[in-house]
Amino acid sequence: MISQELLSILGCPGCPERPPLTPVVEEEAEYLACGQCGRHYPILDNIPVMLVERARRRKPSDASDRNDNRSKQK
Ligand SMILES: [Zn+2]
Repeated sequence: MISQELLSILGCPGCPERPPLTPVVEEEAEYLACGQCGRHYPILDNIPVMLVERARRRKPSDASDRNDNRSKQK
């Protein structure tokens, strides 16, 4: 698990505001999810991989438009 201390200093590298990330478990793998852009950053050996290229893109609320990449960087 990722410590709260680490979580508090991490921010999403894909968002200009660097919003805080939420730990989630999907398919028995841990991720840090950004509620703003929906990216999921994998956690490998308890080390979060904070790379946009490695992130899984997922909309937090609606999964309808999967192809909007950098259009909504607000
Ligand atoms: Zn983000």
